[in-house]
Amino acid sequence: MKKENKKTLEKISIVVPCYNEEETLPIFYEEITKIATEMKKVEFEFLFINDGSKDNTLNILRELSKKDKRVRYISFSRNFGKEGGMYAGLENATGDYVAIMDADMQDPPEMVKTMYEDIKEEGYDCVALCSPNHKGYSPVRKLFTNWWYKLIAKISSTPQVPGARDFRLMNRKMVDAIVNMKEYNRYSKGIFSFVGFNTKWIEYEAPDRVAGTSKFNFWKLFRYALEGILAFSTTPLVISAIIGLIFCLIAFILVIVIIIKTLIIGDPVSGWPSLACMIMFVSGVQLFFLGIIGMYLSKLYLEVKKRPIYITKETEKEKKKEK
Ligand code: UDP
Ligand code: MG
Repeated sequence: MKKENKKTLEKISIVVPCYNEEETLPIFYEEITKIATEMKKVEFEFLFINDGSKDNTLNILRELSKKDKRVRYISFSRNFGKEGGMYAGLENATGDYVAIMDADMQDPPEMVKTMYEDIKEEGYDCVALCSPNHKGYSPVRKLFTNWWYKLIAKISSTPQVPGARDFRLMNRKMVDAIVNMKEYNRYSKGIFSFVGFNTKWIEYEAPDRVAGTSKFNFWKLFRYALEGILAFSTTPLVISAIIGLIFCLIAFILVIVIIIKTLIIGDPVSGWPSLACMIMFVSGVQLFFLGIIGMYLSKLYLEVKKRPIYITKETEKEKKKEK
């Protein structure tokens, strides 16, 4: 009887990408299990992704999976980045609903309760959190992030909610749709929006990390922002073509002006500095746009190669067999 009852319970999978999170993991585990105990009507699965951590993260996960059957982990052969971690989690999660959460407690575990209720009662496919005030970001990161959201809103047809976090609870249909998007250059915030489905947005102020430091430095963030643009907008290519066209038109008009001027007043040799400046400017613009085309081409190159998004080295299942 008891078994039958258990079978009918819905399951929530909590996917947690972890990179050097030895300090935050025990705190996160304690908090999330508290919530799991409170939510009696659902089963839980905690799927941790060890993204090539260099600290004690893997050992902590091994220990947790030994003492708690709900804990699973996938350990990568090296650091593949948070995007790879999220993909591995979504692909391997077995729950009816899947939540993605950071290990650093910036995504408060108690929110899972509200998110699940909203999905069940209000009929959403997904409940996602956004923190548009970017509290806790440095002034420079705040400034660039705000600029980035304004830019992407203009140049991409896939809407991006300002301050959207990766923290969200999704139903099985949405998860399957995301897993089916197997692109190598992943920008999940765009992918979540691209697949559609009804999403409820909840605004909150993300607290600071409980321990450890952010795993995203300026360059990593810059590459991530560029990834978002390259993956979800081809506007830079269009702009480069338009500007190229404008330069051609200007050159054509200049040629006519110069011919007429030479015919009327002859050709006094002057103006080479301005000519040198123009040559420098135009070749600069050409190189810049070649660079933009190159960036798209390099992404295309990587897509065509179909490299794996992540490589697994160890999971809790193998460890259990070893024993
Ligand atoms: N993370 C990861 N791989 C990476 C970088 C980060 O799995 O290469 C994880 C990290 O362990 C954390 C989450 O992604 O659980 C968010 O990272 P972090 O809190 O450092 O980013 P921030 O909140 O500063 O944007
Ligand atoms: Mg964080």
